[in-house]
Amino acid sequence: MKRGENYVKRLLLKKKKLEKDDFVELYESKGIQPETVQEIGRKLGIQIDVPSDFYVTIGEKREKREKTRKQIEEELKQHVESLPPTEELYYEDPYKTIFEARVFKILQSKYVILDKTCFYPVGGGQLHDTGEINGHKVISVQKVNHVIVHEIGGQVTLKEGQHIKGRIDLERRLALMRHHTATHIINEAARRVLGKHVWQAGAEKRPDRARLDITHYRLPSKDEVRKIELLANKIVMENRPVRIFWMPRNEAEQKYGFRIYQGGVVPGRNIRIVEIEDWDVEACGGLHCENTGKVGPIKIIKVERIQDGVVRIEFCAGLAAIHQIQQQEELLEKAAAVFRVPLVQVPKTAERFFKEWKELNKEIEKLRTQLSSMTAEKILKDTKTVKGYKITVKRLNLNEKELISIVEKILEKEEKAIVVLGGGVDRAIIVGGVKGPFKTELLSIVRNGGPKVQQLDQVLQRISHLIAEKVGQPISS
Ligand SMILES: [Zn+2]
Repeated sequence: MKRGENYVKRLLLKKKKLEKDDFVELYESKGIQPETVQEIGRKLGIQIDVPSDFYVTIGEKREKREKTRKQIEEELKQHVESLPPTEELYYEDPYKTIFEARVFKILQSKYVILDKTCFYPVGGGQLHDTGEINGHKVISVQKVNHVIVHEIGGQVTLKEGQHIKGRIDLERRLALMRHHTATHIINEAARRVLGKHVWQAGAEKRPDRARLDITHYRLPSKDEVRKIELLANKIVMENRPVRIFWMPRNEAEQKYGFRIYQGGVVPGRNIRIVEIEDWDVEACGGLHCENTGKVGPIKIIKVERIQDGVVRIEFCAGLAAIHQIQQQEELLEKAAAVFRVPLVQVPKTAERFFKEWKELNKEIEKLRTQLSSMTAEKILKDTKTVKGYKITVKRLNLNEKELISIVEKILEKEEKAIVVLGGGVDRAIIVGGVKGPFKTELLSIVRNGGPKVQQLDQVLQRISHLIAEKVGQPISS
């Protein structure tokens, strides 16, 4: 929220008055509510009016977007009905990156349908490929019924019937394959470490990281997580073959059991089986490395309980895992540089600094108490008594805690006293206390809100006058 707050502050100082579009932009792109903007405005002393139809506008916008998304989907479905299934080249060879094909159809001048393709669509929790078709950037790929639809970013100049050359982004594809294969490996590793009840509850494979949700009744211990990680990496290093083949459904169920449906039941009489030798067998439509060695290192980065009975494991595989480890190393190096010690000494040094820091704080606390006692005594010595009251209104260059402590000290010592102390650097602070009659009336004067630092002297003077009126005699401060 801190970052958003600074952004709003800058915007308010620049524009002073916000239009409806500004509120919508803040809400939709930064998740900042108009009430928050108002709050920030109040702190800056700027009055902010929120358009009364703000939430109606947001609702309408959302509805419109949802409608267009659904409309596009519906339209695509209608258009592909008469088309033959796209030949899925990625299943023949997931390492193939360049292919030739023919343009079947172009829809809404941005969706391209080919007779065959290497582009893997979004599916089974695996993100789509990116790449290009005759120099046109492919930004998204989806499977609509049996047809693969490539979404092009920008103007399409391709023609129906034209022969094209396609190229998928190999680095992204490899990263997706590693993360997908790693998901299968970790799923079984978790089952071996945590127990046979573990089942996949969900998964997402991205190029930079992946997550696997598993059924488990509690958050696994650090030790268990390390065991899962080690076991997964062992399977990688054993370089087990990953075999992929099609099989009649009932045969597969008989041979492997229902555990093959980790990602949910897949459609079709023939199902695609992904088998990591002597480790894991799943019905899965995703793309996988040909052996576990190609997955590369697997690093678990986060484990959390996301709901009752479901644990989320986030991890990186291959180059992404190396990046992750390098980033962590960098953090450690930064800490070591701050302490000016070698890496191995960071924990011990941090511990020592923390201990010293705590002791110093205790020491400061002690000195502060002494200082406020002394200040309180000095103030009392310099204060005249008016109608039995020790009355002090004073500005001191101290922080809130110190001011409070001085007020408390004075009230402890005196039978009847009125103390108002002002201070603060960025923000004015007024601390007051009363002992004796008039208590409630005088306290309400003191609690009259915080002024700006520049006005502090003025406000203290006013308080001084108000007290004098109440007590019935002018006082000099
Ligand atoms: Zn899978």
